[in-house]
Amino acid sequence: MSRNTKATVLVAGGAGFIGVNLCRRLLQDGHEVICLDNMSTGMPEHVDELSAFPAFRFVKHDIVEPMDLPVDQIFNLACPASPPAYQADPVKTTLTNVVGVRNLLELARVNGARILQASTSEIYGDPKEHPQKEDYCGCVNTMGPRSCYDEGKRCAETLMSDYRRMYGVDTRVARIFNTYGPGMREDDGRVVSNFIIEALQGLDITIYGNGSHTRSMCFVDDLVEGLVRFMDQDRADAGPINLGSPYETTVLGFAHLVVELTGSKSEFVYLADAIDDPHVRRPDISRATEQLGWEPRVGLVEGVKETIAYFRGSLNAAQASGDRAPHQPRLMASS
Ligand code: NAD
Ligand code: UDP
Repeated sequence: MSRNTKATVLVAGGAGFIGVNLCRRLLQDGHEVICLDNMSTGMPEHVDELSAFPAFRFVKHDIVEPMDLPVDQIFNLACPASPPAYQADPVKTTLTNVVGVRNLLELARVNGARILQASTSEIYGDPKEHPQKEDYCGCVNTMGPRSCYDEGKRCAETLMSDYRRMYGVDTRVARIFNTYGPGMREDDGRVVSNFIIEALQGLDITIYGNGSHTRSMCFVDDLVEGLVRFMDQDRADAGPINLGSPYETTVLGFAHLVVELTGSKSEFVYLADAIDDPHVRRPDISRATEQLGWEPRVGLVEGVKETIAYFRGSLNAAQASGDRAPHQPRLMASS
């Protein structure tokens, strides 16, 4: 289905951070969008915003339960993505990625729909090859606290491949690297939201370990563009395709950037290293560039400034309404 053809698109996990940005883009492109979400980490505010579009429909549903809807395309984003969130109920995280993905694949098979799976750089685990190319098989602990997510997402990729081979389902696997931007929860628990919320409130900046771990952070608008291009390709192979920023920074370097851009007086506090925390991460995006003509356009400073403005707005709104106190950063249980 090409970009100009109007489709009925199911976005599972559409009330979450990437989901709201993707749903908004698809609605602006003129598609009918069904957002299916169990609201475990999704935000009611996102559903309210999207409901202003007549072509938007929200269905509260858990993908672990089968569903029956007429759809042309499916984006599967349904899974908590922040380590404290996916580790809170690890069995549910695995089931979401195995039983839930199988249910969505069945829906795709019955409807003859195209399906794109939001996979992750976590399938490379704590990588021994750097940067990570798609043919690197990864280094993943099967029994640690991150395994429910890493192994769940690896099994989801296997299911996507097997449904393609067995039933001819048109599957696509996008391996998403760390993505940030407006739409994140204040209490999401990932590094970008934690550091910005801490800096804006003058709280200590919580660094796990010594801050030498690296990540490569992609602004959400760029990521959404990559997802849409991958879905819209008429003769795409199944992937996987890495989508992320090739610009790598240390966690400590990122903390300094946030303090500088917020003008905060926050100090750094060093907490216990998170278990199985990948030491380095950076995508090789040559496949995305060759096959999709895609590369990120928004620089880190520009993207972080926009994200700071978003969080400043949400903290101010919370204070002004008096309905709720600002949510506090969510930390790893061991810290
Ligand atoms: P998020 O936690 O903000 O959004 C996930 C959404 O899925 C939420 O709305 C949540 O309520 C919903 N959900 C969770 N389990 C569900 C279930 N069983 N049934 C129905 N809905 C369910 O996370 P995000 O950052 O928006 O990530 C979206 C997807 O992208 C996830 O699959 C994640 O693994 C993947 N991803 C994200 C990143 C990133 O840096 N943001 C990186 C790699 C992969
Ligand atoms: N991190 C940190 N303090 C925080 C949150 C995260 O030092 O409050 C670190 C974390 O240990 C990791 C990096 O930031 O090295 C990215 O963590 P995040 O949870 O954002 O993503 P992921 O580990 O899934 O890439």
